[in-house]
Amino acid sequence: GVVISVSGVTKHFDSGTQAIAGVDLDVAQGDFVALVGPSGCGKSTLLRMAAGLERPTEGSVALGTDSVGFIFQEPTLLPWRSVRANVELSAELARLPKAQRRSRAQRAIDAVGLGGFESQLPRMLSGGMKMRTSLARTLTSEPEVMLLDEPFGALDEMTRLDMQTELQRLYAERRFTAMFITHSVSEAVFLANRVIVMSPRPGRITADIRVEFPYPRD
Ligand code: ADP
Ligand code: ADP
Repeated sequence: GVVISVSGVTKHFDSGTQAIAGVDLDVAQGDFVALVGPSGCGKSTLLRMAAGLERPTEGSVALGTDSVGFIFQEPTLLPWRSVRANVELSAELARLPKAQRRSRAQRAIDAVGLGGFESQLPRMLSGGMKMRTSLARTLTSEPEVMLLDEPFGALDEMTRLDMQTELQRLYAERRFTAMFITHSVSEAVFLANRVIVMSPRPGRITADIRVEFPYPRD
């Protein structure tokens, strides 16, 4: 079924900027969508509307689930909480019992390669490890939909490659629905099974490409 449905969406900001013009987009369960296009073409605005963080001026955006995880380019961690306590946050907000919180958080911590760093505070972590912590926190809530705004943009190349591989492995395992923004066409083609190209002034979709993999994804 359709998990994200964007229909006839236009977005004008109060400043007078028209960020999005007449966008229609259906994202199916299990789609892994990359949003690409030049700066200012409305990628973030579209993603933020899908997340419910921004309202369309015209048209509608519907999500088929409440189970959504959002990841920003700059990881937002609570500085006074350890890696484990940061990762458990999403499960706390979902009011999961303590034992389940613990086990899910540990699974996510191990999945992103942060085993052994559970009691560290964010300020002790490198940029890559902060991003891993943020990803682990999102994974702990086991979202059906993941919305990622340039998740690997701030990482060095080695860490980026590592995280891309990790995300791909998790996708093969769980088949969540994902939409992510990237400036890297190779990242788009490596991770996504659908690449959506946007053009600016005002933002609209100019291509919607299915990507078939030359190698097995699981
Ligand atoms: P992208 O993510 O593709 O770089 P954005 O969605 O961030 O594009 O921006 C699309 C357009 O909307 C740009 O012209 C940008 O300056 C404008 N814009 C984005 N957010 C706001 C805002 N909060 N207020 C006013 N204009 C904005
Ligand atoms: P970056 O993104 O800065 O390159 P990574 O997330 O790839 O960093 O981490 C590189 C390695 O550095 C980690 O696997 C870890 O072994 C080590 N490291 C980084 N920060 C710490 C820390 N606070 N304590 C112990 N080891 C650390």
